[in-house]
Amino acid sequence: MDYTVTLLSTGFVTHDVRHYVISKPEGFHYSPGQATEISLNTFDLKNEKRSFTFTNRNSDKTLEFTIKSYHDHDGVTHALWDAQPGDTLRLTDPFGTIHYDGSGIFLAAGAGITPFLAIFREQWAKGSLCNSSLLYSNKTNADIICEQELTHYFTQPENGLLLTLTRKSAMGYVSGRLTQSIIEEYCTKLTGKAYICGPKQFVASMKEIVSNIGFDSSAVVFEK
Ligand SMILES: Cc1cc2nc3c(=O)[nH]c(=O)nc-3n(C[C@H](O)[C@H](O)[C@H](O)COP(=O)(O)OP(=O)(O)OC[C@H]3O[C@@H](n4cnc5c(N)ncnc54)[C@H](O)[C@@H]3O)c2cc1C
Repeated sequence: MDYTVTLLSTGFVTHDVRHYVISKPEGFHYSPGQATEISLNTFDLKNEKRSFTFTNRNSDKTLEFTIKSYHDHDGVTHALWDAQPGDTLRLTDPFGTIHYDGSGIFLAAGAGITPFLAIFREQWAKGSLCNSSLLYSNKTNADIICEQELTHYFTQPENGLLLTLTRKSAMGYVSGRLTQSIIEEYCTKLTGKAYICGPKQFVASMKEIVSNIGFDSSAVVFEK
């Protein structure tokens, strides 16, 4: 089913990522980690549906998204950047296989953090975001989405945080891509579930790494 919803507000998250607050259709439910397809209700783009993940809690009265815009061509995310409160959008019923299934390691790259944001916010509110590590890879520190919030969650005792930068060196961050040796060196606990989200190539290499580390395929959560 498709729903017509209204953009209520937008705000900056990073130089190319915005936070969008959208009206919530009555009775609309999703679970943290799920996504929807959004289209702009404009003449040009109304048939262009793109997938985006809910980043707030299902119990909230609005829907929230955290969306990276690509300004190198006239796609949906470029047009979304200029959307104004009051504009209408269309969205579909929620879908997706990423869900929280207990503590573990979260491996994310770029906008791949979005399903985990929803999961972290939900688990944090329940007081049960513990015994988990986040390993989050970005091009530069300016690209890290919600860095302060993530740092707050994952520098709590029993949690761990590793931020890696692939295109810049900066104090407090590890330089380079996430590799098996980095993961093994920085994660004190490599148990529970392995949650993976990011570009296709990232997901493929992280699946291989966690399998080499010893995670059973049933313990690996990713978007299928
Ligand atoms: C399940 C799921 C959930 C997702 N959730 C989120 C989310 O919460 N937040 C988020 O930011 N992203 C999310 N994404 C990614 C998001 O769907 C894409 O970024 C979005 O579809 C891009 O739409 P677009 O129309 O702007 O770009 P598209 O036209 O679809 O192009 C996408 C990519 O191709 C490149 N490209 C295409 N055409 C050109 C061109 N002519 N010139 C140069 N480059 C080009 C773009 O740079 C970009 O890298 C999700 C994806 C999936 C599958």
